[in-house]
This record gives sequence, C-alpha cells and structure tokens, in this order.
Amino acid sequence: MSPGLPPGLPVACAEAWPALDALPDGLALFDPAHCLLAANRSFRITFGIGIGTGATGLSLAEILDHATGHGLLRSGDQPLADWPPAQPMPQPPPDLLLQLGDGGWVRLAARFTRDDGMLCQVVDITQQMRIWTAIEAIPDGFVLFDSEDKMVICNQSYRDIYKTSAPMMSPGVTFEEILRYGLSLGEYPEARGREEEWVRARMLEHRGPAAEGEHQLKDGRWLRSIDKETPDGGRVGLRVDITQLREQAAALEAARLAAEAASRAKSAFLANMSHEIRTPMNGVVGMADLLCDTTLSDEQRLFAETIRSSGEALLVIINDILDYSKIEAERLTLHPEDFDFERTIHEVVMLLQPRAREKGIDLMIDYDVFLPTRFTGDPGRLRQVLTNLIGNAVKFTASGHVLTRVVGMEVEDGRHQLHVTVEDTGIGIPTNLLDHVFGEFYQVDDERNRKFEGTGLGLAITRRLIERMDGAVWVDSEYGKGSVFGFRLALPLAEDTGPERLPVSIGTALVVDDQFINRTILERQLTPCGTEVVLSRSGQDALERIAAGLMPDVVLADHEMPGMDGVVLAKKLRKAGYDKPLVLLSSSPLAAREAGGDAINAILQKPVLRAELYRLLTSLTLPAEPKPALPEAQPPVAQSLRAMRILAAEDNRTNQLVLQKMLRSLDIELRFAGNGHEALAEWESYQPDLIFMDVSMPGMDGREATRAIRASEAARGLKPVPIIALTAHAMEGDEEGILASGMDRYLTKPLRKSEISAVVMEFAAEGCRPPETGSPF
Ligand code: ADP
Repeated sequence: MSPGLPPGLPVACAEAWPALDALPDGLALFDPAHCLLAANRSFRITFGIGIGTGATGLSLAEILDHATGHGLLRSGDQPLADWPPAQPMPQPPPDLLLQLGDGGWVRLAARFTRDDGMLCQVVDITQQMRIWTAIEAIPDGFVLFDSEDKMVICNQSYRDIYKTSAPMMSPGVTFEEILRYGLSLGEYPEARGREEEWVRARMLEHRGPAAEGEHQLKDGRWLRSIDKETPDGGRVGLRVDITQLREQAAALEAARLAAEAASRAKSAFLANMSHEIRTPMNGVVGMADLLCDTTLSDEQRLFAETIRSSGEALLVIINDILDYSKIEAERLTLHPEDFDFERTIHEVVMLLQPRAREKGIDLMIDYDVFLPTRFTGDPGRLRQVLTNLIGNAVKFTASGHVLTRVVGMEVEDGRHQLHVTVEDTGIGIPTNLLDHVFGEFYQVDDERNRKFEGTGLGLAITRRLIERMDGAVWVDSEYGKGSVFGFRLALPLAEDTGPERLPVSIGTALVVDDQFINRTILERQLTPCGTEVVLSRSGQDALERIAAGLMPDVVLADHEMPGMDGVVLAKKLRKAGYDKPLVLLSSSPLAAREAGGDAINAILQKPVLRAELYRLLTSLTLPAEPKPALPEAQPPVAQSLRAMRILAAEDNRTNQLVLQKMLRSLDIELRFAGNGHEALAEWESYQPDLIFMDVSMPGMDGREATRAIRASEAARGLKPVPIIALTAHAMEGDEEGILASGMDRYLTKPLRKSEISAVVMEFAAEGCRPPETGSPF
C-alpha cells in the first residue's frame, strides 16, 4: 500500500493512487465530515503534512494552520472562516489563492463528491502570478476579456480609471454588463440622452478587430483606449491617462498660436511700416528725380542728386530689412518663370555701369558661349542676388575690373548646373573673416572699409535666396588683391528657347582691346560662328596689321584704351584706307558717338550682350534691304484725334503732384480722384482710357473701387478699362491680392517716370492721339 493511502479506500481508487501520487498538482480527498482521507505527494509536500496516516482526520483549516505554523504558507493567507462551506452548494465555491512561504503561489479549488465528501486540488500558479503582478505594476489600465466577452482580468489602474464601474469588475462578468452598470451610474457623460445608441456603438467598437480612440471621463480626465483582438478571439485593452499630455499639447498649441499671431503682427507691422515709409519716400525720390531734370546751378544739382540717391539708398535698406524678415518668417516664395539668364546679368551690369564708370572700373560678362541662356527660375530673385554680388564688387573695388563669369553643364533631366562667379580687383577680405561675410549684419569692419555704406544684410539674403533655390554660395579672396564670390545652381531649361540667333557670316574680325579678358571673351563669342578672329592689344598694333595688308570684314575696337583710344584708331584706320564696318565698344556711347563721327559704323554699349553683338554684326554685314518708298503725303489724322484720358485715383497731395509732373511730357489729359468713391464717379462721367489706382485710400480703397468698376462694366457689357495699381505695399502676396480685385498691372512706389510713361504707351488707347507726341519735358 502506498504511503498516505487510507485503509478504507475503494479498490479502484487504491489502484489509481500511484498515478495520482505522481501528479504535479496536489490532490486531497476529504470525507463527508471534511476530515482528510488521503493526500497525494504534491499536496503533502505543499502543506508539510506527514507521510502515512499521521495527517488523516485533519480538517482543511487544520492543515493550512499547520502549514502556516511551519512557514510553508504566508500568514494572513488562511481561508475565510466559511471556506469551504460546510454544506455542499449548487455552485462550487470560488477558488482560493495562497502565497507560499517561498514566494510562490498556489490556487486551491474544492469540489464536493457525490457522497458529500470533498476533493481539493492545489495548482502551482507562480508563473501566472508573476505575469499578473507585472500587469498590476503597469501604470496604465489593463483588461482582458475572453472570446465570450467575459472579463478574465483587469488591473487596479483599470479599476481606478472606471471607479464607478469598478465594483462590477470581476472575472466572468461580461463587457456589456460592466458597460451598462457604469452607464446606469452616469459614468459616460457623452452617452447622456442616447444611452442605447451609445451602448450599441461601444459594443460594435468593442467587437471590431482593433480600436483606438480618445475620450473624456466624467471627472474631466482624458483617456486613450487601445483595444485589440487576441489570437484566441478574446480582447485585450489598454487605457492610458493622457490628461497631462493633452494639457501639454494644449499649452504648446496655445503657445504656437500666440507665436504665429506675434509673427503675423510683426509681418503686418513691417508691411505697414514699409508702406508708411514708402509713401513719403515716393514724394522725396520722385520730386528729387523731377528736380534733377530742371535747370539747376551746379550746387543745386548736387543737392537734388544727393536727396535722390539718399532716398534710393534708404529704400534699398527698407527692402533688405523686409526681405530678411520675410525669409526669417519663411514667407518668401519663389516665382519661377522662363527667362534669359544672360540678359538678366546684362541688365544688372548695365544698371551698375554708371557707378563703375565713375570709378573707371571695367565691367565684363563672360557667358559660356555653348551654354543655353533661357532657363526656368525666379529672375527677380536672381537679379537681386546678382545685384548684391556685382554691386558689392563695384563698391569694394577702386580700380581694375569686375568680371561676371557663367559656365555650366547639363546634369540630369534637362537641368543645367550653372556656376556663376563675380571676380573683382578690390580691397579683398582677410582670410580669417571669410567665413563670416555671409552672416547677418556682418561687415568686415576695419578702418579701410568703414567708408562704405550698407546694412550687412545683402550677403545673408543672397545666401538664403540661393539656398532656397537649392544652390550654394561661396567666397574666395586675397586680402588687398580682390575677391571672387560665386554661386552654384541647377535650373531647368526653359520650354521656349527664345528667338533663333541670326547667323553671323563674317570671315575675319579684328578685335582691338588692351584688356586680355575682353579680347578673349570676344574671340570666344565669334569663333563658334566660323569667324577667324585676329587679336590686337593696342591701336598701334592694329594699324600695323592693316598696313601689313590685313583686311578684316569688321573691326571691333574698344573705346577706352590707353595711348590711342578707339575713336582715334577708327579715324586713323579710315585714313589708312580701311572701308569696311567698324564697331566701337564703349561704356559711354554718347561721348563716343560725338567724338567718332562718320568713322564709326556702330557703337555697342559695354559690356556687350552677345545677342546684341550678333544682331549688329548680322545687320552690318548683310546687304542693306531696299527701304520701302514713303507714301506721298501723310493724312493729317493726328490732329483730328482726341488726347488719351487718364484718371489717377490718389489721396496724397504730394503723390498727385509727383504723378502730374511725371506725366506732363506726354500728350494726355489727366484728372485726379481723391478716393475710391470719386474714382467711381469720374469713371462714369470722364470715361477714362486708363486709370492709375492707388491701393490704400480713405473711404473706398483702390481694390473696392476696381471691383465696383469691373462689376458695372460687366453689367453694361462695356470694354474693361485698363487699371494700374500704384502701391507702396511690398509684402509677399500683396500683388496677388491686388490683381485679384481686377486690376491689370501693379507698380510699386516710389514711382519712376520711365515706368509710368512705359505703361501709358503700352495702354495707349485706339482712336486717341499717341501720347508720346507731346511737347518734350
Ligand atoms: P553690405 O555690403 O550692405 O555691408 P553685405 O552683406 O553685402 O553687406 O556684405 C557684408 C560685408 O562683406 C561687407 O560689408 C564687406 O565688408 C564684405 N564684402 C562683401 N563683398 C565684398 C567684396 N566684393 N570685396 C570686399 N569685401 C566684400
């Protein structure tokens, strides 16, 4: 007989006993009086009861007491007084969880036998309890439901979150029961008044494969709930208290909104300030401009020109500051369009030519002859970059040259990598300061360059602009010798490649220039046309070549050469019998024309635009086209036509005067309106051919007035009158806003006489006298 086997056991049971004794779970059989009949090895070891019959007859409570007394069970874990119940119950009693002396855990289950005896089972659940303790330690709420939607476990955090429903949360209770219990106690404020619908929705959500959402509890806390289906069809859920997170997010959002509002206020302030400054500056610069065109004494002219140039310098500063703040606020947008890069460089250089001429600096452009010229990019911003780099080069150079060189090559998908350098022979920058020049408000500030004006923002803006175009800038300089500023940029080729270049068919050209770079540029430009280029470094040398029998098809001579200048050379060449075309390249064409007289066929303004050079050479070397015969007599139509009527809506008296003076050289009729209402009335009665419309005016502004005019025109089927906005607004987006109101064009103040006149010419109305036939200024 096996140890622990009581003598009175049925035979079948006795036979099975060795197997039961080997089970890892503990088993014990109690008689109807709940006294131990038999216990297997695992049970005996767990509770430390002796082998043989020593323990028989003990009640379960006595056994547990014994185990506690011997340190095998932790005190406090004894079963409740009524466990197990003395009488068999319809339902088995709930299981007991007991912690062992070694920290392990067992679950004790009791079942009544048919003869009112009792069978106890002890299962080791240490591993399970470890997981459970871990789940309890999670700060978030955790819950597990089985495939029948009955709760398996939930941790204390989960109960704490749903405090009202917590009493209902025990294993075996269904999700819906817990939900309805909480609902009945008002746990879910969002369900109020639509309880059934809410329960249905929650159940659907609960049964879906996965759900994630955020909701607020009655006490104001916010929860993120994440529910997922388990592989066995159950559901596991996590509840994270995100109240603090949401508070932080809300605080961040509020801070962001406040910062954005502040930034908008700053931009608006800048826009307004720039508007406020530009409006009176229009008066200052415009009037000074007009004053310079009148008869003045030398002293008066100096004063007037100083006012004009100081005003313009101030405007450059305002624009720099505005641009910089736009870049800072990331409000700078590029406006790509097809444009001619070579022409853009040429225009910038031409604008800087007067300043360079004053200092005797040579401005040169060397644009790679094999590189296309039309690209897609933002010509306005590139012009700004070039103006800054070439302008600086002129500013910081006292003598010598400023050479702008462009080379490039095709890279991927039709883009060209352009490499632009601006090289000068100026004061240079000390090596240790080279890294700083692209910084904000930085000026290489030693006693030598303190005499130069500037904001120190130009290069910072240049760098930001080029980087915005995905390019890069750099500088290289030798102190006292000169600097090279450069940028690299990839631009796509423009779709329209521009007008075809006329073929130049010149056999031989003689280029006379003392400057090596100029000679080389011309040689490079002419050689691809099949022209043989002979280079001469002085007038004397050229004369000697002609005397030696050279007879080029064209002579290209520089005007400003030391020793014998281009004009003298031209005259001597003519005397020597050279009778073919002779072209002078000059940075002051007016003076050259006066001095050169008949000896010169044409003068090209330096630096020479390649297209212009080709055009001129083609026209000089092609046989002249017969001129069409003039009609006998011109009908005197001009006299019978009326003058073009222009209406200018402008509230500022000074600006009215500026406009009036700028337009007075044109043969037009001009009326003023002081605000939008007046403009509207004048449009009715005066029927202008063109309207200049100030944007900011008291009462009805320019935009409103334009909208009203456009609406009336549409209603009456009238031809729309051209409306040109005149504005001091210079912020990004202003132009779009202004044009959206129905205006045709946009001119920024301060106004320029040339711009205003060009617009009048462009919009000259049919059936009127041409505006340019008026008396000269
Ligand atoms: P600004 O010209 O308005 O002072 P920039 O940002 O354009 O500001 O230039 C910053 C500084 O870099 C200049 O003040 C000057 O000291 C130096 N610098 C720029 N270009 C040149 C140049 N070509 N030669 C010498 N120094 C230069």
